Amino acid sequence: MSSSAKTFRHGVHPPECKATADAVVTRIPWPDEVVVLLSQHTGAPAKALVAKKQPVMRGEVIAEAGGFVSVPMHAPITGTVSAVDLALNPRGELAPAILIKRDPEADQETVYGTPRDLGNLSGDALIKAIQDTGLVGLGGAAFPTHVKLKVPEGKKIAVVVVNGCECEPYLTTDYRLMVEQADKVIAGLRIVLQATGAPKAVIAIENNKPEALDAMMRAVTPGDPISVTSLATKYPQGAEKMLCDVILHRQIPSGGLPSDAGMACFNVATLAQMGELLPRGQGLIERIITVTGGGVERPGNYLAPLGTPLRHIMEHACIRPDARKIINGGPMMGISVASLDVPLTKGASGLLVLRDDEIQTSRLEEYPCIHCARCMDACPMFLNPSHLGQLARKKRYEEMAEEHHLNDCFECGCCSYVCPSNIPLVQYFRIAKAMLRERSAAR
Ligand code: SF4
Ligand code: SF4
Repeated sequence: MSSSAKTFRHGVHPPECKATADAVVTRIPWPDEVVVLLSQHTGAPAKALVAKKQPVMRGEVIAEAGGFVSVPMHAPITGTVSAVDLALNPRGELAPAILIKRDPEADQETVYGTPRDLGNLSGDALIKAIQDTGLVGLGGAAFPTHVKLKVPEGKKIAVVVVNGCECEPYLTTDYRLMVEQADKVIAGLRIVLQATGAPKAVIAIENNKPEALDAMMRAVTPGDPISVTSLATKYPQGAEKMLCDVILHRQIPSGGLPSDAGMACFNVATLAQMGELLPRGQGLIERIITVTGGGVERPGNYLAPLGTPLRHIMEHACIRPDARKIINGGPMMGISVASLDVPLTKGASGLLVLRDDEIQTSRLEEYPCIHCARCMDACPMFLNPSHLGQLARKKRYEEMAEEHHLNDCFECGCCSYVCPSNIPLVQYFRIAKAMLRERSAAR
């Protein structure tokens, strides 16, 4: 392990606030009903294979992938389909979903799945088997994992980088996974090395997580082409572009993919699920989520079936009456939860519940830009957020994209975080990108 504090240039140091770091993962009580959204991932929605009143078993396939860039869905609980209908998604929109009422008599054993001998699977068969698990990036991006593993023609992966940084404040699911389930992460990583043909892998962990560094090093077998490296604690250290810069000393080209720089990058939670599900031929039906913040009495790292209504998770964590704001994800990249009726999705790693006194009301008032350049000094992509913000206010979206590299912005929120004028820069950029997508679709 390297002891130097390697890192990228720029970025910020928000307070870590990892109050749940020592909270062992526990399963929450079974919800009475789950809402399985058919689009919980980047790409085409899955297509429902079940109908109302149909009994389903935990782990059974209930929706098939809607194309190559898509994944199937599996029943998170044993019960009966109560509806195939529209339901609220985390963005507050109505989206197609399968609703399942739990069978109170069922023991919720996972009965589905056929063990596989992975050594006998060739490239495309292995990719298909991974797609069949329904696995997507569990760090938040929710990009189908099998698509990332399909190395484009003519490209070679020199290094698989494992993101164990968990640089977002408050979140501790990846940390607990590394401490409690390091063997599963390594099992998943071996499959990734097999699928990509990469000669080696590097597990990158921030140096504020010595127990995780230790657990991962102990899990590596001598002779494995796997090393564990410690990186400086800085946000957004876990972003693909930052990891590529720090570990490979290469840049992912603007508009390009990590494979353009010879890298494939996976989050530890994704690998742990791959290591567990793939050899058993099972599908993704649950995930760990950190529930934290002063707005809950029982913060923790909870294992819950996918589709569990956030209200049920909040009840288990004992939401306080003075809880005012709930953020899906961490404080830097998360989005406000519009309703507690929204279900748990594959990409949701945290619920941050803030009390009145934890929300800085002064940040709500926006002042004019004072041209202090703090946003430029913070931006890890070396953009000019101040200028981009001015263009966004004037709705000059095309100019932002064509002349000022808006699409290189990965919405890390560093610029908004440091701005003394409380300008919600990252929100302007999200709106600008959404408008550009809309205009492009209309064309
Ligand atoms: S949100 Fe975008 S512009 Fe702002 S610091 Fe991050 S990458 Fe740079
Ligand atoms: S940090 Fe805020 S005030 Fe300073 S230059 Fe950037 S946008 Fe303007």
